[in-house]
Amino acid sequence: MLVNLKEVKANKPLRLSEELKLLGHIVSLEGSIQLFNEDTYELKAKASIKANLICDYCLKDVSHSENFSIDEPLELQGEDLEKFTLEPILAALIHEHLPMQVLCKEDCLGFCKDCGVNLNLESCICSKSNEDSPFSKLLELDFKEV
Ligand SMILES: [Zn+2]
Ligand SMILES: [Zn+2]
Repeated sequence: MLVNLKEVKANKPLRLSEELKLLGHIVSLEGSIQLFNEDTYELKAKASIKANLICDYCLKDVSHSENFSIDEPLELQGEDLEKFTLEPILAALIHEHLPMQVLCKEDCLGFCKDCGVNLNLESCICSKSNEDSPFSKLLELDFKEV
């Protein structure tokens, strides 16, 4: 997404209303780029991400929505002001706002580390041998989604 920063004047922010695809996610951006002082530009916007993530445990696709506000100075290091690209800063912000851990459900069992079976779908003999462990009861708890 290229913007022309030369269009941004002290009393004339550059309006942004965009939907773009970044890192495989859909990102909507509503806001503007403003001139903060002589040569500092700021991106102020509301962003919403429709992220396509993958469960850390079982690799199932997980859709995730995240909304956040952006209030970031644009760091200019000799870039072409007429063709400034917003993707790097957006990619960093998306990365920052997506969850560190992604689970398809709170009690996802993932794959058996011994035989590779998806334990959400079927059980295997390996897990039976652990039935006496004090933690086996935890696995049976049902975290109902509210
Ligand atoms: Zn999962
Ligand atoms: Zn197994």
